[in-house]
Amino acid sequence: MPFHVRKPGIRLGPIILLPVLLLVAYAWQSQSGGVRFALLSPATPTATATATRPPATATAQPSATVTRTATSTPTRTPTPTATPGLLAEPRTDYIPVLMYHYVRTVDATQDPLGYRLSVAPERFAEQMAWLHEHDYTPVRMDALAACLRAQQPCPPQPVALTFDDGYEDMATEALPILQQYGFQATFYIIVNFVGHPGYMSWEQIEQLRDAGMEIGAHTLTHADLTGLNPEQAWIEIEQSRIMLEERLGIPVTSFSYPAGSHTAELADMVHAAGYSNAVTTLPEKAIVHMYKIPRRRILGGETIAGFPWYLMPLP
Ligand SMILES: [Zn+2]
Repeated sequence: MPFHVRKPGIRLGPIILLPVLLLVAYAWQSQSGGVRFALLSPATPTATATATRPPATATAQPSATVTRTATSTPTRTPTPTATPGLLAEPRTDYIPVLMYHYVRTVDATQDPLGYRLSVAPERFAEQMAWLHEHDYTPVRMDALAACLRAQQPCPPQPVALTFDDGYEDMATEALPILQQYGFQATFYIIVNFVGHPGYMSWEQIEQLRDAGMEIGAHTLTHADLTGLNPEQAWIEIEQSRIMLEERLGIPVTSFSYPAGSHTAELADMVHAAGYSNAVTTLPEKAIVHMYKIPRRRILGGETIAGFPWYLMPLP
């Protein structure tokens, strides 16, 4: 009965202090290790993701052609990081990552939100011509990730062109203009929306793929991942990659958070699900984290006079 014998101060001190000290030491160690892991090396999945991985059968299969289950498709073998520490510091040179949604003509008075999300085809053509004239090299996000990790050289004056949601005008309007200049771009697909009115069909996505465009994942249902439990978020993240890979026969290594909503845990999950990079919707001064790559939204109605601003570093 030591509790009755000892004085209160002596009694409580060791009992409380020792676990607290151990906890602090552990937290410090795992945090520093965790940051390095998230930033630099697509190595082992996080404990969170591993522990919460649910069976693939938990979601509805949106496409009859996709039969693979999670048990038969574990996370791909990650690519080792060639240069640990590369992104421990922000890059000094600015690499713009531009974000588009629709390439279509919208009446601003009829549909203000749609107008904001849309760049008219003529405007888009002007912007691509400007990039061409100013010697920019559009680069896919998978290639940008590899160049940021020093796994392959970065092209001169790189710029990444990204398109969210998989709208039909990606194939009918954006693709022909990109092809005119031999430009590559990344298209993030919402898997369950493929073939729905206004969205690309699988055939159109294959057309993009065959033209050398990158196909990235934008979840199954475009749910805000921060509003889901970890099991649901994992399904959205991992299954969208698996289904796109199954249907298209190509690696899918780039991810876009719906509405840009993300957390540190989700970033780790995206990493664990086999992606090499992920984009947000927020502009920032530099790329410092491979799973939180900032983007600049090209506003609907942006004139060519305003376009160069998106290629300049933020003040
Ligand atoms: Zn979206």
